[in-house]
Amino acid sequence: MPRLKDTLSRLRRKRGIPDGVWTKCPSCEEIVYSKELEAKLKVCPKCNYHFRLTWQERLEQLVEPDSFQQIDTELLPTDPLNFVDLKNYSDRLKEAQEKTGLQEAIVTGIGNIGPHRVVIGIMDFSFLGGSMGSVVGEKITRALELAMREKLPVVMVCASGGARMQEGILSLMQMAKTSAAVGKLHEAGLPYITVLTDPTTGGVSASFAYLGDIIIAEPKALIGFAGPRVIEKTIGQKLPEGFQRAEFVYKHGLLDIVVKRKDLKDTLIKILNLLTK
Ligand SMILES: [Zn+2]
Repeated sequence: MPRLKDTLSRLRRKRGIPDGVWTKCPSCEEIVYSKELEAKLKVCPKCNYHFRLTWQERLEQLVEPDSFQQIDTELLPTDPLNFVDLKNYSDRLKEAQEKTGLQEAIVTGIGNIGPHRVVIGIMDFSFLGGSMGSVVGEKITRALELAMREKLPVVMVCASGGARMQEGILSLMQMAKTSAAVGKLHEAGLPYITVLTDPTTGGVSASFAYLGDIIIAEPKALIGFAGPRVIEKTIGQKLPEGFQRAEFVYKHGLLDIVVKRKDLKDTLIKILNLLTK
């Protein structure tokens, strides 16, 4: 199993060093000094916008250095339907793999968060919008099964546009499969904590993301099932300000806590302290 440090340096080489000394915030459009942005865990110092993170950035922020061991790295996506839209799905997969250095939209493994050994899954939105194909569903299910065998809690960091349409029904089936696995974890009495980051939508929100014993979200993260435009057209009404943002969702009782990125690790440790012996 590859060690974290090796994996990270390999991926950094593959992805290249981020361009430019300055970064434009997509929320307030201010120009931010990239080093300051990095120091603030990629949270805009001007408007508090939480930038989307790659899985390795998230891992570095949450998991103890050198404690992470990836699992199920041999699982690779295929194109079972020979799906073609504007491009072949197989070409889309290849491009996403080359662009991100990832094999799929999630990385799973075992690592330490503070003193707690946990099974952890981290989705990466940069791989085909974090969409859930068969391999994503299978990796999540296997991670949950590993947690049951090892009697470990699970932390699942979600970032996804939903099911992967290029895999059709096979993708939708992952909702049932992952939900069943969460159900078994629950029966085994093991904690399952989900972290909903920007965005967590569609079939992912409607399955393993919203099944957490404790559901955490990052500030202003877009969280929902259907997009706001679809809902507005369906119900023929204008939606309220901030609809589907973490704070709105929290206010309506669908989240347990909205946590700033700088406090996320400590919050996870506190929750794990409470839920484990
Ligand atoms: Zn900003």
